[in-house]
Amino acid sequence: MLLENPFAMEGRWFKGNLHTHTTNSDGAWSPDKVANEYRSNGYDFLFITDHWKVTDISGLSQDGFLVLNGAELNIGPSELGYHYHIVALNLKENISSNSVSNAQELINLIKSKGAFALVAHPYWSGLTVNDIQNLDGHIGIEIFNSTCFFCIAKGHSVIHWDDLLCKGKLAWGFAVDDTHQHYNDHRPIDACNAWIMAKMPELTEDNIMNAISSGYFYSSNGPVIHDISIQDNIISVTTSDVKIINFIANAHNGESFTAMDGKPISSARYKIRGGEKYIRVECFDENGKTAWSNP
Ligand SMILES: [Zn+2]
Ligand SMILES: [Zn+2]
Repeated sequence: MLLENPFAMEGRWFKGNLHTHTTNSDGAWSPDKVANEYRSNGYDFLFITDHWKVTDISGLSQDGFLVLNGAELNIGPSELGYHYHIVALNLKENISSNSVSNAQELINLIKSKGAFALVAHPYWSGLTVNDIQNLDGHIGIEIFNSTCFFCIAKGHSVIHWDDLLCKGKLAWGFAVDDTHQHYNDHRPIDACNAWIMAKMPELTEDNIMNAISSGYFYSSNGPVIHDISIQDNIISVTTSDVKIINFIANAHNGESFTAMDGKPISSARYKIRGGEKYIRVECFDENGKTAWSNP
């Protein structure tokens, strides 16, 4: 579904988190501390997305590290009576909750402000595929969310993603932290745990927005995808050492490759059979950490 393969594009990979809270909503860390933590953990860019508030990011960017504006906005009702959470990326001014009455109007408003809408944590929100397939104008959904995973084990939303893709709805899949920096003796901290790797010529706001809206990235909370190429109807993938590499497609299509004899694998090849409506790659390491390509 990608128009251009990011693995074949010029440029380099930049690491970023798209969903971050601070003390300006229900996060435990100040904007300054959050930015410092991500920068010192090797991230290149960070969106700060407080609930219904565009946090002041002035002074947070440094050489080689870019902080961008955003906010997280919620609105109901979904099919089951819950709320959609929508992350507005690159939103530069506050939006009032009074000005919209449903999720589609909220996405339209986000777009009218020059920002991009991302459907947050569908599994945690209790959203069904019906809820999401009727939305237009967003760039995709969160397929992994660290805080939802550590809090209530509802971090993964890949079934929602595959349902959308099966129905022909193009949506990019994003791994994010949604960090709130709350933790306890049975809940790890949700910061610097999941990310996207975006391919671009250099780190600028425009390039980041282009990469995330065009799907020029992959998601991970551990493994590295080194390369994905397609030649003569064969998809070849190389990764860091992993236990499983999956080619996921609609319905019964696709194929899974599992490491045998206790030795890890780092490559796999899949011959396109013809029934695939889309194909995406995912790989799992021995600790269950995962990387996901876009379709
Ligand atoms: Zn949320
Ligand atoms: Zn959030």
